[in-house]
Formats: sequence, structure tokens, C-alpha cells
Amino acid sequence: MPERYDLFINGDWVKANNYMEVRLPFDGSLVGEVPSANLAEMEMAIDAAWRARKAAREMPAHKRSSILYQASQKLNERLDEFGKAISLESGKPIKEGRGEASRAVQTLLFSAEEAKRIEGETLQMDAHPGGEGRFGFTIRHPRGVIVGITPFNFPLNLACHKVGPAIASGNTVVLKPASVTPRTAYMLAELLAECGLPAGFLNVISGGGGEIGDALVSHEKVNMVTFTGSCEVGHRIHTRAGIKMVTLELGSNSGAIIDKDADMELALRRCVIGGYTHSGQVCISLQRVFVQADSASDFRDQFIEKVRTLKVGHPLDEDTDVSSLVREADAKRVEQWIQEAVSEGAEVVAGGQRCSSTTIEPTVLFKTSADMRVTKDEVFGPVVSVDDYGSLDQAIAKINDSRFGLQAGIFTRDISRALKAARDIECGGVMINDVPTFRVDQMPYGGMKESGLGREGPRYAIAEMTEPKMVVVNL
Ligand code: NAP
Repeated sequence: MPERYDLFINGDWVKANNYMEVRLPFDGSLVGEVPSANLAEMEMAIDAAWRARKAAREMPAHKRSSILYQASQKLNERLDEFGKAISLESGKPIKEGRGEASRAVQTLLFSAEEAKRIEGETLQMDAHPGGEGRFGFTIRHPRGVIVGITPFNFPLNLACHKVGPAIASGNTVVLKPASVTPRTAYMLAELLAECGLPAGFLNVISGGGGEIGDALVSHEKVNMVTFTGSCEVGHRIHTRAGIKMVTLELGSNSGAIIDKDADMELALRRCVIGGYTHSGQVCISLQRVFVQADSASDFRDQFIEKVRTLKVGHPLDEDTDVSSLVREADAKRVEQWIQEAVSEGAEVVAGGQRCSSTTIEPTVLFKTSADMRVTKDEVFGPVVSVDDYGSLDQAIAKINDSRFGLQAGIFTRDISRALKAARDIECGGVMINDVPTFRVDQMPYGGMKESGLGREGPRYAIAEMTEPKMVVVNL
């Protein structure tokens, strides 16, 4: 029997008025049911978080740390169960589902560790003539009630990136997961409750972002919104949230440079992983590859060969490399963008077809230009375009010719060319000898330009989730 979750509010499972189905994207089979919260249920969740905020602020750091540490340990013991749950709702291959669960263990662990080092600073008050005879220092004050809104593509780990740092720094949380992938958020709440997280500290409400989103982010009892998702929704949240802290982790069309002296074997191997993990549904998915003209034809031939060996299949098959997109509408959109690029002069050299209602073959495009949707917008599908360049300045200009700026990569053995790229690329992160898709969870992670505002990674998220309070003693 598929499992049914209720709302998780104030430490209790609360029956909802309406429920919605969760289905496996690959074949539409029923996975479970979750609430579709209405505005009254959303109010209950915010109220619970609001009432618990004083207790959260006053809980000693070692206790907050211990709860998160235990949750990370228990999750580590249940990787298979969580990995399968991730794959069933998101449709990602099971090996990636388990990989995400392992990353979530680390995210909770880093949050537990950071809970013990949230520190202010002392100020040299007498540096100012008016500050003589004063002693000054700052303390980090938790913001209070934090709303976390998460996307479908990493349903567990991105929830941990909101919940872990928020709990670590003495805040309470209302978490709204994506409607297509909500079950792992409830599993996370269950896990944290088992580890002793008090009632009201974390509340989970699934429900349509289009129905409850505006009310949630603009609510007067909400002190901060931390959002991960599309640019479109990010823009909307930013304009509606009002005067409160908002962090936005948004999309990208990430690129990598394969320079003339690159380790070609390494570059090929990493580009295949970067372009096709979770069918390209990763915010830092490799979408644009720029190869130095002298080695371009060599790279192209070998890249096509490697992409053709990827196995497309059911997400629960151990040897599946690429599975479906999350919704049929997304697969149709990606198919249409490929066809549009071809009509504008691009050449499909691998894949290019929709092979089931939700599945797109791993696709490689040549002869694309910067104004096609497959290059200038976020594809969020298994489509990589390969272009070439002459000088490094040209390659960097091509990477920067984007309204996004999340992460980028450069493969080169020349340290000065690598550091020039690191300096001149307009992105939140530059990976040297790797694809933009590289991330471990303690990194400061976030984008420039339309890729967002603020940084995640427990230490950096805690800086956003607390504010400095100045204390001055008149000696
Ligand atoms: P999405 O459509 O923007 O949805 C993200 C979340 O926002 C969902 O929970 C959604 O709820 C909710 N939402 C929708 N409308 C809302 C509104 N008006 N107010 C408040 N919340 C609302 O994104 P997605 O398709 O799930 O995820 C893919 C996107 O996320 C891509 O653009 C990807 O690049 C980005 N992403 C960024 C990062 C990063 O760290 N930079 C990481 C992962 C993904 P419903 O599901 O109920 O609509």
C-alpha cells in the first residue's frame, strides 16, 4: 500500500482537508499521498513556529547540535530507505538517490558542528574618538521563524540545507517542499522528532506553491524566507516577501571551458557526469561546453561516444544512468527546445528524441549559438551543447554571456590560465579541473546575477539566518 502522510505541525501529525497523489515520474505509478495544505492549515504551521521561537532561541547550542548530530547518524543507518524514497518521488536513478541521502548526512553533520561555533566579534570602540571608554561586541541573534521552500530535484538534501542551519542557529522552521517530491520532507521531520527536536521547531506543510506561496512568504510572523527553485518563482517571492530577509538559490545555464592543455580523459569523464546526472535536472548541470579549437574535434568525437553508452531506464534499476524528467510537460518543453535549435541551425549528434512521455535521450548539440533557448535559458534536461573558442578571453566571455552566474568550470594544466578564469568568470563558484556541477555541502554555494541572492552551506546559511546584535558597555 502506498504510504500516506499528514501535515506535521507542532510535533503532531495533523489530518488535512485535502490530499494529493505523489507519482513516480518514470511511469506514473502511485507512490503515496500527502496533504495539499490550505491557508488555514498554513496559519496553524506558522503559528506553531511562532510560538516555539523563544524556546528555540533559548535552547543551548550543545543540545541543538546533539539533535542534528543524532539525526545525521540515524539517517546514515537508513540510507537505502531514504535513497529509494528520493528516487521514487523525483525519478532520479537509485544510485543518485542514495548519493543524495549520503550528502544529506553530511549537511546535517556540518549543521551540528556549526551550531557550536556561532560567534560574534569584539570591536575596537576607541578607534572612533567618540568611542573612548566603551567596550563593544556583537552577538548573533536568530531571525525567528524561517520559511524554507524547496524544489523537486534534491528533495532531501536541499530540505536539510534549510532545516539544518536554521535549527543549528536557534530558529524555527516552516518547510514547504515541492508538490511533486514532498514525502522525504515528512520523513526528515519524523527523523528529527525521533532525535528529540521539540514541538514547533520544524513544521512541514505540502501544498501548491501557487495557492499558499504568496501568503506564506508575505506573512507578518515570518522573519525570513529561504527559497531554492526557479528564477521565475524567486522573482515573485522577492517582490512579495516585504521587509524580511530573503535568500534565493535559483537556476543557471552553467558552462565549462576545456582549455588546450587539459587532461582530456578527465574532462570527458567529468563532462558526462556533469551534463547528465539526474537527466540534467541539477541547478549546476553542465549545459554549455567550450573547447579550445585545436583539440575540439578530438573532444567532440569522444564525448559523443561516451554519451551514447549511457543507459536510459527505470530509476530503481541499479545500472540506470539516465531516467525520466520530473513531469511530462518538462519533457515536451525540452523536446521543443531541441527542435527549435535545429530549426535555427543546430545539429543533433547524439539523442535528441523523447523516448517515452517523460524521458529524453541524452542529447549532444553542435553548431548552437548564444541566442538559442538551449544555450541562453536553463534547459533542465539531458542536453549539452559543445562549441569552440580561440583565446581564453573569448572562452571566459562566452561563459559570462549569460544572465545567470551560479558555477563554472575550467580544465587546464596551466595555473595562471586557471587563476585568470577564477578571477574573471562572473559566478558564485569556479571549479578548476572539474565541471560546474561539483558541490560538497560545506562550500559557500549560491549565485551571482539572476542565479540568486545569499549563500548556502551550513556555515554561510547560518550567517544569513542570524543577525549581528551590537552590545556596547559604557565603562
Ligand atoms: P519551482 O517551480 O520554482 O518550485 C520550487 C518551489 O517553489 C516548490 O516548492 C514550489 O511549489 C514553490 N512555489 C511555486 N510557486 C510559488 C509561489 N508563488 N510562491 C512560493 N512558492 C512557490 O522550481 P522546481 O521546478 O521545483 O525546481 C527547479 C528549479 O530549481 C531550477 O530552476 C533549478 O535551477 C533550481 N534549483 C536551484 C538550486 C540552487 O541551489 N541554486 C538547487 C536546486 C534547484 P509547488 O511544487 O507546489 O509548485
